Amino acid sequence: MPRTPATLVLDHRQTGKVALNVLVGALESFPDTAAVPVDFVPRERDLADAVARALEASERVLVLWSFYSPDAAEQARRLAQVRAAVPDPRAVHVAGGVHASAEPLATLREGWDLVALGEGERTVVDLARAALAGTDLRAVRGLAHLDPGGALVSRGRGEAVTLDDWPPFAPAHGRLGPIELTRGCIYACAFCQTPFHHRARFRHRSLPEVLRWVRVQKAAGFRDYRFISPTSLSYGAPGPDPDLAAVEALLAGVREVIGPSPGARLFFGTFPSEVRPEHVTPAAMALLRRYVDNTSVIIGGQSGSDRVLERIRRGHDAATVERAVGVALEAGLEPHVDFIFGLPGETDHDVEATLRLAEALAARGARVHGHTFMPLPGTPLKDAPPGRLAPAVRARIDRLAASGGLYGQWARQAEVADALAGRRAPG
Ligand code: SF4
Repeated sequence: MPRTPATLVLDHRQTGKVALNVLVGALESFPDTAAVPVDFVPRERDLADAVARALEASERVLVLWSFYSPDAAEQARRLAQVRAAVPDPRAVHVAGGVHASAEPLATLREGWDLVALGEGERTVVDLARAALAGTDLRAVRGLAHLDPGGALVSRGRGEAVTLDDWPPFAPAHGRLGPIELTRGCIYACAFCQTPFHHRARFRHRSLPEVLRWVRVQKAAGFRDYRFISPTSLSYGAPGPDPDLAAVEALLAGVREVIGPSPGARLFFGTFPSEVRPEHVTPAAMALLRRYVDNTSVIIGGQSGSDRVLERIRRGHDAATVERAVGVALEAGLEPHVDFIFGLPGETDHDVEATLRLAEALAARGARVHGHTFMPLPGTPLKDAPPGRLAPAVRARIDRLAASGGLYGQWARQAEVADALAGRRAPG
């Protein structure tokens, strides 16, 4: 049987699968790359077998991985296992996502053949074309590799895309998911990878394009309609002031497309996105109540100390967080407020202010989503010490959790923060 020139095998597990669906959607946009076989592998134990199977049928196999910094160590372990099971140089392992972009040298040294820098839509199309043509994959724009001496060779960052030009998922492969409304973020918070990976500028998908993809979701029998945005109420706005007319046009338009389908639900300002506290106004909350099905709204709070909020460049104070919680409650939406414990440079006074605010908001009916600070690669705080929770602080967090006022992965994130600090690239 003749072999195909190239096959894609995707490490299609929870954390990276939305990003990988976007890449397959990019391949679907062109007749030549749409025809490349793709194997979505959802289970860790099946990946090596999938790569071996693809090698029997293909000249080259591109194994695509996409992951976040907290998962980087675990993914490197898995890569080593797959390589040991299938030590064939025709299988080319490519890492993408915010971590690989921020730490290309470390990622390549951990065993990936190629790293995608920045946004991946154009890069994956060029990569697939190079694989189909049998040309040098390392020459593709947006990729980096190691030279024989172990030094980084970069072909520059991938093209920063216009969302309207690319699908939000891969409908031809039946891989649908939340629609990315906005890429990039003007708020450059010092702990967050988003603005440093996608640039500190909003790029919105236009309303007609959003609605076009909602129709695709509806035709596929979607029930829950969700959206990805760094700050939901910024949809359509060029700067910090929300454009509520644009938000209303979006929500009304989506509602109209969904129609009265039984069981269909529209989610906005909640998972997998959130809202900034200064955007939580009575008018904005009334808008949500009119159109959405979520009964809660996720608000970025992060700290109860104005000094810390300023240091991490949040662009709001603690009083704004308190006010937002009151406005959401008044509107009948349960506020879930993100807090980060163990932010760098906190004094005892700052820690106390954060715990007090978290406790006070929980007492009013909010739920606190607790995180521990992780020094994420690519951010201004990448070299900061990992978040540490003193026993007395942990005891108060545990008490709040036990009362139902707080939830989250703060304990696990404390371990991840330590691991990230331990893996920092020397120099
Ligand atoms: S934390 Fe939110 S508002 Fe701040 S930069 Fe990240 S995405 Fe933007």
